[in-house]
Amino acid sequence: MARYTGASCRLCRRENLKMYLKGDRCYSDKCAIERRPYPPGQHGQGRIKFSEYGVQLREKQKVKRIYGLLESQFRLTYHKAAAKKGKTGENLLQALEMRLDNVAFRMGFADTRAESRQLVRHAHFTVNGKKVNIPSYQVRVGDVVSVKEKSRKVARIGEALEAVDRRGTPAWVEIDKKGFAGTVKSLPAREDLTLPIQEQLIVELYSK
Ligand code: SF4
Repeated sequence: MARYTGASCRLCRRENLKMYLKGDRCYSDKCAIERRPYPPGQHGQGRIKFSEYGVQLREKQKVKRIYGLLESQFRLTYHKAAAKKGKTGENLLQALEMRLDNVAFRMGFADTRAESRQLVRHAHFTVNGKKVNIPSYQVRVGDVVSVKEKSRKVARIGEALEAVDRRGTPAWVEIDKKGFAGTVKSLPAREDLTLPIQEQLIVELYSK
């Protein structure tokens, strides 16, 4: 499946937000957005004024990049969210949070969503005991996500679990570090998403 392979830090600088796309480096003084807190490119340090459309577009790009999705995947997720009952913006964020790659990241099995996605693709996880290797798989409340017995020796999974306290675990998941497993206790509430996201702007963009 297609994915973005360019420089991650460039994305943070473009969105003017620490999106924590590179694991350890994001917590060090090597973080690019702290060293160069302006957009990349020749005119990055110039004055930028966005139109209404520009503001909406930047918000969509930001959320897409946080979750590591390309446009077609993101748009599909949006349309599914719009078809559901309730607020489209919140449905969209919930659908993004409940992707298996994100859930495994939130449970601490990977340092970044990109790493988690690769681990899912390489079939290191099970959901309720069954192998699942689809990053977009929608996890449900009550599901148990585990690292496969054979994969528990994978160094980067162990290292990520060691660092889970630094990243923090959201209230809607419960992890059993020793058992290499986590349970989804509830759907993520809007206030559980701590990154500054204005989902309404994305709804406005796609509703044009
Ligand atoms: Fe973003 Fe800083 Fe992490 Fe680079 S190191 S991905 S700029 S948070």
